[in-house]
Amino acid sequence: MFVEISQIPAEGLDLLYQGDLPEREGLWEPKTPVRASLHLEKREKGVVVSGTFSTVVGLSCSRCSDPVLLPVEDAFEIYLTPPSRALDENLELTPGELDVEFLEGDKINVLGLIVENILLSLPWQPLCREDCRGLCPRCGQNLNEVSCNCHEEEIDPRLALLKKLL
Ligand SMILES: [Zn+2]
Ligand SMILES: [Zn+2]
Repeated sequence: MFVEISQIPAEGLDLLYQGDLPEREGLWEPKTPVRASLHLEKREKGVVVSGTFSTVVGLSCSRCSDPVLLPVEDAFEIYLTPPSRALDENLELTPGELDVEFLEGDKINVLGLIVENILLSLPWQPLCREDCRGLCPRCGQNLNEVSCNCHEEEIDPRLALLKKLL
């Protein structure tokens, strides 16, 4: 979904987006449509986009690689500025903690912004549950489901030597 900057009225533009979340291979599988409510407002030469979004994405657990369903809900605010402004030494970075990005052309890729912010709100290491035990590094079994005997056989070689000496 694109918004032409020239179509944003002086009082700002409110948008509701509800639609499919594009798949990001290796990152997530879309599970429910994404809902986002956005406000676009011109500021100087740029545009401030603020909004909230919610969706559910499918990830894999970083320990056992089981599928994880993760509800994602967050808010963002971003200042889109024409690239030439970056060279302007008087560019005052916007108040607060606004993220700054460059505009590309005269349209705003609204869905692109939503996708980007969903990405930013994902955990680095998603877990199927807090205490996921992961896969056994030796036999590869899922330790949430079985308990293998690998760790019992695993004896520090120095200890083994010591045992021999004793
Ligand atoms: Zn897991
Ligand atoms: Zn094992």
